[in-house]
Amino acid sequence: MSPKKGFGLRNKIVVVPMGDMDYSMVNKLASRLVSYFSVGVDVLQGVKIPQEALNQQRGQYYSTVILTKLELMKSAPGEKMLGLVEEDLYIPSKNYVIGQADPAGRSALVSLFRLRRENYEMLDEAKVLYARLLKESVHQLGHLWGFKGCRNPKCVMYLTEDINEVDRKGNKFCDNCLRRVKVRLK
Ligand SMILES: [Zn+2]
Repeated sequence: MSPKKGFGLRNKIVVVPMGDMDYSMVNKLASRLVSYFSVGVDVLQGVKIPQEALNQQRGQYYSTVILTKLELMKSAPGEKMLGLVEEDLYIPSKNYVIGQADPAGRSALVSLFRLRRENYEMLDEAKVLYARLLKESVHQLGHLWGFKGCRNPKCVMYLTEDINEVDRKGNKFCDNCLRRVKVRLK
């Protein structure tokens, strides 16, 4: 999946599904990210979730430890890593996190655990889950391109704490965010 062949050293997104994941959804997301960020997107296969990140007492995975692992998987400095996991993530100061980004290292991580839960009502579950995954993936990758948290509740960079807010926000960067970052995005 590459919009411009022959630019291997340029920025590229590497999507890293870890553990058992729905690859059809992962591939759909990866294709969408190509046009979103105008970069090539690769998908790594067969990566296991690092067990040293598991906190047995909490029954959750320490997000920062997985981000560090993603850094080690890079094969070129221009790569931006997006890890995807089904398991629940945490950082010590929070009960859980849906995702996390390390702009310095240029790695991001999103968990489907909270995105899968509740509020489907009569809606198409797969469609809702994909919409949530896209928003959270674009949000975390946005941090790697220099986007900050945004106060506009419709903007994809809006900082969401719960699933209702994720559902209410859009999947696009608002004009303020785009002005601030001044990068070419579709
Ligand atoms: Zn914004």
